[in-house]
Amino acid sequence: MTTAFIAHASCRLHNMGPYHPECPERLDAVSDRLIASGLEAHIAHYDAPAVTREQLARVHDEDYIAMIEATSPESDICYLDPDTAMSPHSLDAARHAAGAVVLGTDLVLKGECRAAFCAVRPPGHHAERRRAMGFCLFNNVAVGVAHALAHGLERAAVLDFDVHHGNGTEEIFAADPRVVMVGTFEYPLYPYSGVDPMGPNMHNVPLRAGSGGDAFRKAMSEICLPALDAHRPEIIFVSAGFDAHRDDPLANLQLTESDYAWVTRELVGIARRHAGGRIVSTLEGGYELSALGRSAVEHIRALAEL
Ligand SMILES: [Zn+2]
Repeated sequence: MTTAFIAHASCRLHNMGPYHPECPERLDAVSDRLIASGLEAHIAHYDAPAVTREQLARVHDEDYIAMIEATSPESDICYLDPDTAMSPHSLDAARHAAGAVVLGTDLVLKGECRAAFCAVRPPGHHAERRRAMGFCLFNNVAVGVAHALAHGLERAAVLDFDVHHGNGTEEIFAADPRVVMVGTFEYPLYPYSGVDPMGPNMHNVPLRAGSGGDAFRKAMSEICLPALDAHRPEIIFVSAGFDAHRDDPLANLQLTESDYAWVTRELVGIARRHAGGRIVSTLEGGYELSALGRSAVEHIRALAEL
């Protein structure tokens, strides 16, 4: 079965200014590397639909959605926080980024694809129910999880290996026993949360600056992956940020492509045991373009079990 690669042209047009690290070229870095990788024969390309208001409202307050819509500028750039801005195409990009995860969820639930990777921006895991922050407008992964639960699944899981704690996803699902969230992040580092879990379903492990693959694999092997396995998820979502790579300029962990390949293969094993192999992964961070492209492609190669 093929692996879905879901994208949308609007995600390339979202632009937070000429010096912003969360730049449109990030998507080119992933797609160019994918073309060069020889994986294309195993990939099915899909255009992301726009998320519906109903799908968004499962994880964001109506007032918040209305505020984002009202903030969308006709020209120039409008700031939601010092790091997070909207340009004229940002609302469209955010709707398709969240819609991509909904489509990925539908594809794996229907059995049309076993796994999906959403190459989208803006990223999502910092967006809370009522707050945009950290380059994120809508919580794309959370929208996918809520979509799967709305379609009758009883247990879902999120693995977040972005270098920054996924505070938005944790805030949205902290009280929901149907969802387990696991992952690693650098601490102390933005957004300075995650050390005290907001619920018993949260298993996020802080790593010190300078930690490399050994510390990452130990945290995953001893805490994150066993918690995921014990939950017996029927579908697994990934907040796939590649900014823990040693070349990334925004953080100080020392992961390499092989660490991303390793954790993805481990995840595929758990997904095969409990979830019929169903994994929906979506791009979060990753700001060194070459490292981002290489890491994302090794992640996709492992998702495709190649
Ligand atoms: Zn990040």
